[in-house]
Amino acid sequence: MTQASYSLDGQVALITGSGSGLGRDMALRFAAAGAAIGVADLNLEGAEKVVAEIEAAGGRAMAIEMDVTNEEQVNQGVDALVAHFGAVDVLISNAGIQIIESIDKFEYTQWKKMLAIHLDGAFLTTKAVLKHMYKDNRGGSVIYMGSAHSHEASVLKAPYVTAKHGLLGLNRVLAKEGAAHNVRSNVICPGFVLTPLVEKQIPEQAQELGISEEAVVKDVMLKNTVNNEFTTLEDVSSAALFLATFPSNSLTGQSIVVSNGWHMH
Ligand code: NAD
Repeated sequence: MTQASYSLDGQVALITGSGSGLGRDMALRFAAAGAAIGVADLNLEGAEKVVAEIEAAGGRAMAIEMDVTNEEQVNQGVDALVAHFGAVDVLISNAGIQIIESIDKFEYTQWKKMLAIHLDGAFLTTKAVLKHMYKDNRGGSVIYMGSAHSHEASVLKAPYVTAKHGLLGLNRVLAKEGAAHNVRSNVICPGFVLTPLVEKQIPEQAQELGISEEAVVKDVMLKNTVNNEFTTLEDVSSAALFLATFPSNSLTGQSIVVSNGWHMH
């Protein structure tokens, strides 16, 4: 087996939802490791800012306006990335949102929106990159942004928990189908990381649960961690870099939980 290295020199990575939060951090760190980045986001302005940051640091990147639930936009975005940088070696399917409500009150339209972004988005972006990764069995690494909620449940998060569990299934099937073409597939499952997605939830959960914001952080979000600490952007990006650069199919079909011990398996 080839020795693992953390260099992505000469590789091209598509990261969805990389105009903010975890996606942005992975885009910056992957670019610093040598990859050319497709910064794909619904929010083009956010994506363009990240591209400017990468270029200012001497890296290579391209902003792609992409709603991951729109098949045409996904296919066009992936093809434009390949036309510009020559290939796509890594996909990080990361775009996601959170909507909290109890099951009895959840609007069906909101349920469908959640499943579309998290599951349809993962499927569509995977299908689009496989067209290029399967060509001549060139191969690649697909990484899904799961969550500790791929393994755990929490109140008020039915579609999120359902979708994040669902990604484990897609991941395992891709690991089996992709192996013949040198494609690896894995899921990263972070605990709570302070990004806009989580910052928005703290007051919302406080209101729904009738407790203070401090109590949401201490007694809900960090309650089961080993050290009462949030997981950091760097923690998650390091796991992504490890998976993207891992050189063989011995590590495929797995989920890696980066949650300060909240979930152990
Ligand atoms: P964030 O809100 O900071 O960033 C999400 C990005 O996704 C935004 O830039 C948004 O514009 C983009 N996006 C939303 N819908 C999209 C769509 N339809 N098409 C394309 N882009 C779209 O959130 P984040 O915390 O960085 O979350 C990123 C991923 O990490 C999500 O899948 C989330 O479920 C997962 N996650 C986050 C945490 C956490 O604690 N922050 C924990 C576990 C998993």
